[in-house]
Amino acid sequence: MNKIKNFKCECGGDVLKLDDGYECTMCKLKVYNKFMNYKLSDEQIQKLFYSDMIECNNIKLNDGYIINAQIYSSS
Ligand SMILES: [Zn+2]
Repeated sequence: MNKIKNFKCECGGDVLKLDDGYECTMCKLKVYNKFMNYKLSDEQIQKLFYSDMIECNNIKLNDGYIINAQIYSSS
């Protein structure tokens, strides 16, 4: 089900898919594919490789809470 898109990092490096997220082979920037129970879309992950932060609104958690979150990439 997880088709691997050929994405590139902002630094120009190739992005590898890992079990728990994605990592740039050059700058080692890592983006996790989940935030709590919320699964990030490929599009959101791609955005995180080009900016430090994305805003996600109305994330529905398993326990029923709906939150707005800022999600950061980490290197
Ligand atoms: Zn990179």
